[in-house]
Amino acid sequence: MKSEFNWEYAPAPEAKDHIKLKAQYDLFINGKFVKPYSKKYFATYNPATEEKLAEVAQANSKDVDLAVASAKNAYDKVWKKMPAKERAKYIFRIARVIQERARELAVIESMDGGKPIRESRDFDVPTAANHFFYYAGWADKLEYAFPNRNPQSLGVAAQIIPWNFPLLMAAWKIAPALATGNTVVLKPAESTPLSALKLAEIIQDCDLPPGVVNIITGFGDTGAAMVAHPNVNKIAFTGSTDVGKIIQKAIAGTNKKATLELGGKAANIVFDDAPINQAVEGIVNGIFFNQGHVCCAGSRLFVQENVAAEVIQKLKARMETLIVGDPLDKNTDIGAINSKEQLDKINEYLKIGSKEGLELFQTSASVPKKGFYCKPTLFIGAAQSNRVVQEEIFGPVLTIQTFRTIEEVIEKANNIPYGLSAGVWTDKGSKIFNLTSKLRAGVIWANTYNKFDPTSPFGGYKESGFGREGGLHGLMPYLKF
Ligand code: ADP
Repeated sequence: MKSEFNWEYAPAPEAKDHIKLKAQYDLFINGKFVKPYSKKYFATYNPATEEKLAEVAQANSKDVDLAVASAKNAYDKVWKKMPAKERAKYIFRIARVIQERARELAVIESMDGGKPIRESRDFDVPTAANHFFYYAGWADKLEYAFPNRNPQSLGVAAQIIPWNFPLLMAAWKIAPALATGNTVVLKPAESTPLSALKLAEIIQDCDLPPGVVNIITGFGDTGAAMVAHPNVNKIAFTGSTDVGKIIQKAIAGTNKKATLELGGKAANIVFDDAPINQAVEGIVNGIFFNQGHVCCAGSRLFVQENVAAEVIQKLKARMETLIVGDPLDKNTDIGAINSKEQLDKINEYLKIGSKEGLELFQTSASVPKKGFYCKPTLFIGAAQSNRVVQEEIFGPVLTIQTFRTIEEVIEKANNIPYGLSAGVWTDKGSKIFNLTSKLRAGVIWANTYNKFDPTSPFGGYKESGFGREGGLHGLMPYLKF
């Protein structure tokens, strides 16, 4: 289906000749890049071209020991004792250098992760800098945040992050930990380590005392060794619900504090009194931008029955205008899927949904031959019992269900193991408040979607995890009282 809005855009590629990547990256421990005890390295690829970008060290349990020991030493000898306003200066410095090197970081993020440069340039990198700015401001004001409660730091935080927002997740984790006086061992995901390693260079340039932030690379076993380490006091994890459960089991009976930010399957609810054109834009923003690689993606659309035909028709027309392709092209809306494994998983769900008898709609967008791509996809006429409705797909795939009454949509929206986020579109404030009080989701957007701010807490209910990141709430998991 072609719409009148279909123009051909001339390519507008972002330059990458200013990017300096080393062939091989070591582990960032105690302020220096050091070779891994394991002597092993693994490759990280550009999912848009399938080209190898660099090799990174594979940390084993001895490397984890070294990183934790360096974090503990820096905590005991330097960071814990440093006046809070001095700590804040380092965090401000990191924020400023991220801003200065924003272009380089955005290009690396898009090359390593596959997300469109527009997203990494306009969202990921500036929001990462904002998180450092925001938490730098809190560092010397903890007594005001928690009056009469004598907030104290915990010690060493082990932080494990996924591949969908590599730099931003590193910022979400590192900034509040440092502001509250803790030291850090962070592990980025195995398929997107490069922006975290660039952040390690920035931290080195900012002259942070050695060992305050350590960044190590590796697979799940490296993460597991971090979680199990006896000198780790706090675990902050963002990733799959399956691994979240493994981590919870591993720390049961210890006094390690944890925050887990896990999967999601958000309901995006459109009432018949909603501004339909804006809602369609919000639906597209909620699931298709960023390839659906967002745990809070609005992946389940609920449309009130009497406007369903109109919404679906306008949605299809808008989807036809989405450009799928080179992440480094500024016109691209949907970049590359992060890895072949992830693309295979999405394709498997496309088969499952079709077998479940759902109507599948995919746009006529052309997709590059090399690299991992998925066209924006709808499953129309979905029901609660469908696997594509119940399970997290993590791709540009939207299921569409209809509803008649507000009670019905609340029941359906909540009937899911997850509870991370939701969206509601209506022109009635009373309906928004009624719904937001009954939806079991940590974040609910009204007449917008996927808006983030460092001052707002983020986190889930049920199998989406526990604990909050962002805002004043995001300080709490790093403190004892
Ligand atoms: P995703 O599906 O988003 O990749 P994962 O939960 O598999 O989510 O991975 C998120 C992060 O958790 C990655 O950095 C990965 O290496 C790490 N990880 C995987 N398995 C484990 C484990 N058993 N213990 C700790 N960390 C793990």
